[in-house]
Amino acid sequence: MSFEKETKEVNLRTYKINMEAEEYSYTTGNLGEQFFLKIKNEGKLTAAYCDKCNVRFLPVRGYCILCGNEVKNLVYIDMEGVVESFTIAKISSKGEEFGKEKIIAYIKFPNTLGGLLHELKNVKIEELKIGMKVHPVFKEMKERIGSLTDISYFEPKT
Ligand SMILES: [Zn+2]
Repeated sequence: MSFEKETKEVNLRTYKINMEAEEYSYTTGNLGEQFFLKIKNEGKLTAAYCDKCNVRFLPVRGYCILCGNEVKNLVYIDMEGVVESFTIAKISSKGEEFGKEKIIAYIKFPNTLGGLLHELKNVKIEELKIGMKVHPVFKEMKERIGSLTDISYFEPKT
């Protein structure tokens, strides 16, 4: 199973992000770098914001997903996300078996289009459900490298 996100946009750099579970790519410009710096330095999630459409969206990219105009700003988003969909992965996209099943969730955030794909932990499979509220658990500051892997995982809000 592959979670690779594709984009038709050209002339933008593509970041390959290695997640523990899977690997997928982001198309980003300067905004993407800022997105990762906010994660690294502040432990905060941001979304791209188009002031013409008044929409915020993820993954961050330099052009609005609705109108196509250049997007220059990031805005902080509420990090309490909602599980939109999930899958239980036993093998990676490279065919390697995980020792233990991993829950990979597609997580949406309030007032934000799109979402993030990440591992979900500290939830029993029988308790897993669409709509459950989750929040990110960040790595220690000194371990962060400016990547989605700076989020160790998401877990249910208690
Ligand atoms: Zn727009």
